[in-house]
Amino acid sequence: MPSTVLTHINTLVTNDPSLGTGPLGRLQDAALVIEDDRVVWIGASSRAPATDSHIDAAGRSVIPGFVDSHAHLLFAGDRTAEFHARMSGEPYEAGGIATTVAATRAAPDDELAARLAHFRREMARQGTTTVETKSGYGLTVRDEARALRIAAEQLDEVTFLGAHIVAPEYRDDPAGYVDLVTGPMLDACAPHARWVDVFCERGAFGADQARAVLLAGRARGLRPRVHANQLGPGPGVALAVELGAASADHCTHLTDADVAALADGPTVATLLPGCEFSTRSPYPDARRLLDAGVVVALATDCNPGSSFTSSMPFCLAVAVREMGMTPDEALWSATAGGAAALERADVGRIVPGGRADLALLDAPDPVHLAYRPGVPLVSAVWREGARVD
Ligand SMILES: [Zn+2]
Repeated sequence: MPSTVLTHINTLVTNDPSLGTGPLGRLQDAALVIEDDRVVWIGASSRAPATDSHIDAAGRSVIPGFVDSHAHLLFAGDRTAEFHARMSGEPYEAGGIATTVAATRAAPDDELAARLAHFRREMARQGTTTVETKSGYGLTVRDEARALRIAAEQLDEVTFLGAHIVAPEYRDDPAGYVDLVTGPMLDACAPHARWVDVFCERGAFGADQARAVLLAGRARGLRPRVHANQLGPGPGVALAVELGAASADHCTHLTDADVAALADGPTVATLLPGCEFSTRSPYPDARRLLDAGVVVALATDCNPGSSFTSSMPFCLAVAVREMGMTPDEALWSATAGGAAALERADVGRIVPGGRADLALLDAPDPVHLAYRPGVPLVSAVWREGARVD
């Protein structure tokens, strides 16, 4: 097992308060040793042990790899024109999903797999070492199941989102579509997925339909997560808390009762600022959630319609500038917060014996992620101990 030591790390963020200062567990002038897929040693740079190879971080910083807990990467087609139109003064319409559905159904398996691999590389180069992705652009039994099968070949975190929108064939029979999703579609998809998700929103699925989808998924061993309260107030967050969902995602329009419910339960609030950025919509109020004691995650929502960014550093910078988060809170939410939203204890932190998922930043402190927005600061990434190119 070859080992590598990184020395002269000006700031090492561990996300373990027992290892360093503050909630991020910061260490200054630190070193760490990677052996096989693990971090096996963390300490002062002056006391670093000898190893097979040595990397001098030369005063740069190291953070846990980003955990992007919400993305939609299984699609084909192109919606540049829709974005162009929207940024030129036309309103966002959820119906745009149907164009992606048609293109995705027509795409061969190897095209979907190649696009997913491309996004995964693109994300890794920006420091993301854990990626979740959802289905939701097939909307037939065959197309949803093949999307999830393709995803499961590349990713651990795969989510069944047959209830993204009502399939075009069922426009006049939404109840029939819910029966399909909770019956034959779920039967075909459950073996390839870990999670079940639903777009609980006016124009998509109401509370009763969403509950039926999540309960059916849960009965098949899938853990629930919910697209909730994105476009307006609604029942999504309350439903997520009621069913013990790992995460309620978006959380842009919340009542005081929603905030209180999130604060009292284990459900993480996952905020997706790329979506508001790309639709010129008001941002979620992260400060309000954090002050109430809610666990907050940040993710990209990377998708071709409402948020076509794969950059966690971008989302982190927007969260600091527009959503009232401190730089430290945003970094925690983009790493440990994402891990919490995926119920993963093995990612989102750097600890001895833990997975070696980490990013070397060309900056003395990770505050630069917000301080220098848009600058490609990620200079090297390790995923499960392997250097990602
Ligand atoms: Zn989404």
